[in-house]
Amino acid sequence: MYTYYVSVGSNIGNRKKYITTAFQSLQKHEGIYSVLSSSLLETEPWGYTEQPVFINAVWQVISTLEPHTMLKVLQQLEQEAERERTIHWGPRTLDLDIIYALQSDGSCVVYDDPTLQLPHPYFWERLFVLQPLQELVPQFTYEGETIGNRIAYLAMHR
Ligand code: AMP
Repeated sequence: MYTYYVSVGSNIGNRKKYITTAFQSLQKHEGIYSVLSSSLLETEPWGYTEQPVFINAVWQVISTLEPHTMLKVLQQLEQEAERERTIHWGPRTLDLDIIYALQSDGSCVVYDDPTLQLPHPYFWERLFVLQPLQELVPQFTYEGETIGNRIAYLAMHR
């Protein structure tokens, strides 16, 4: 059994609907034991700032699926959202990234191959990931630093 933390983002069209539809599909998927969502957070775009405001969230997914299989399931959900897209350029209808994963024994899953990097290389840099993650796991620590400290640091330096 694995515990996955999935970063969720949408900034085009009916953002809440894309997120809710994908959440419900994931709950029904084979090999998925439970999916828990943080609250949805409106955030300003990061990187390219000339695009609409995002809705972000983090999901905690308990599953027997192996990491690469989980990635494929999430990519399928992204494609299903993409199919409803009316504008064929620009921002994403739905972006799902695995940011962190734990095995049953509590150890962190580590991958660094062309299709999957875990932990996600930027998750510890992004407030829009860490704020919803903190809501789900207030005691989260990474490389000896608490999530509360990290959020305070990033908020001061943005
Ligand atoms: P993006 O367009 O930013 O969502 O990136 C998608 C690409 O990132 C895919 O080709 C994935 O194989 C790759 N990737 C590597 N690590 C991860 C991860 N932890 N979660 C999701 N996609 C990943």
